[in-house]
Amino acid sequence: MSDHALCVHGHFYQPPRGNPFNEDDELVEAGAEPFANFNEKVTAECYAPNAALGNFGLMSFNLGATLARWLAVHAVDTYQQIVQADQAYFARYGVGNSLAQPAHHTILPLFRKRDKQVQVKWGLMSFEHRFGHPAEGMWLPELAVDLETLQVLHDCGVKFTVLSQGQLKGADDGAGPYWVKLPSGDRMAVYSRDDWHSNQLAFNIKDQGGAGRWARNTLAPLRKTFPRMLLLATDGETFGHHHMGEEHFLHWLLAYEANSVGFEVTTLARDLAEHPPTVELEILEHTAWSCWHGLNRWSNGCDCTVGDARWKPALRRAFDNLANWADEAYLDFTRALALEPWKLREDYFRVRLGQQTGSEFLRAAGLAHLPAKSAAQLLDLLLAQFYRQRMYVSCTFYFEDLDRPEPRYGIANALRAILLVAGATERDYVEAFRQDLKLAVSNKNAQTGAQLLDDVLAWAHAAPAAGGSA
Ligand SMILES: [Zn+2]
Repeated sequence: MSDHALCVHGHFYQPPRGNPFNEDDELVEAGAEPFANFNEKVTAECYAPNAALGNFGLMSFNLGATLARWLAVHAVDTYQQIVQADQAYFARYGVGNSLAQPAHHTILPLFRKRDKQVQVKWGLMSFEHRFGHPAEGMWLPELAVDLETLQVLHDCGVKFTVLSQGQLKGADDGAGPYWVKLPSGDRMAVYSRDDWHSNQLAFNIKDQGGAGRWARNTLAPLRKTFPRMLLLATDGETFGHHHMGEEHFLHWLLAYEANSVGFEVTTLARDLAEHPPTVELEILEHTAWSCWHGLNRWSNGCDCTVGDARWKPALRRAFDNLANWADEAYLDFTRALALEPWKLREDYFRVRLGQQTGSEFLRAAGLAHLPAKSAAQLLDLLLAQFYRQRMYVSCTFYFEDLDRPEPRYGIANALRAILLVAGATERDYVEAFRQDLKLAVSNKNAQTGAQLLDDVLAWAHAAPAAGGSA
């Protein structure tokens, strides 16, 4: 008889790479050989074998939008197996086992509230679009958290999230769940990831001697000492890509071995329905799971990466200025037409998801009467809002140097945003953005952000793109 519960959560994610001016182009990346790119390589090593084994029907997981979008086109069978796993779970238990994720994997606590709101809203819309039912829970990018982020989740109808136990004060009842009190006085349910045991699998799964031995040696003794539920949460790529062949560890653990030592295998929304929180505790704000320096990894730079990280605050300042220019242009335009700007921006994501054409969107928003020129300008300013959101993807700031594909991708998204603003309003900020980018300098080769901007301007001229995808 199982008196304890085990949940394994996999965060499945790939950073966006490539050229946002030509997103349909097949990406070719060095180091992924014999595959064309890393998405193909990780699919073969992790996503496809886990899907084939049925692991997505046994674990809790979230599928980042970049990856979901790619799988839906390039690995259709695997994508459908993943989506159907959650749908079968939903049919059986009334809740799915997949969690949503904010739309662009951005570090939410570094955002203003309304940008948090749009990231969360768009992430929930994206989830429902793919999985066919609303999300109960949301996985925060890098588990970066502050109270305002949790408040926004709550206000958008999210019922729970996950944090590392190191981000919670006094989480000594295992996975919980725990209540966290919000600024509004409401409460959010938070599950606590067991850091020690999660990292044991994330970093040393090969040393455990297989799922059966791990269950007997590590899991079974916890029944005497550990609270009700153990939550292991790690990158999904642990099981197959970071550690080749270990999708079998995951399968044996969840299908047989955990149960044989008295742990019922469950997932988060299902567990929450049966075990609402009883204990309230506080979070450590401005923390994340992948950096112990607050949120400096994505803002001021920190010792997690080698070399001079001053390019990070310089690039972020350039983006923040650009975001303000794009917002001013958008607000001035919508004010002149007496439109409600931020609700309109949220709803616009339906166009990005392919649920509506631009004109269907305008009609649904009661804007069918707009003259053709105004309608085109408004759609361009909304598209600029999309790219200006996506430039902040956490990967832009995560690594050690400016001269890498990820910052280049961020700058290219920023460029798309200001070119759209320039086309719609004749406010041209490219030169001002270039000036700001001069302050961001690679510590590898002294290239500046301005030089990267010139590179991506060449992309823009080579491939004037259509809308791309969400
Ligand atoms: Zn750090």
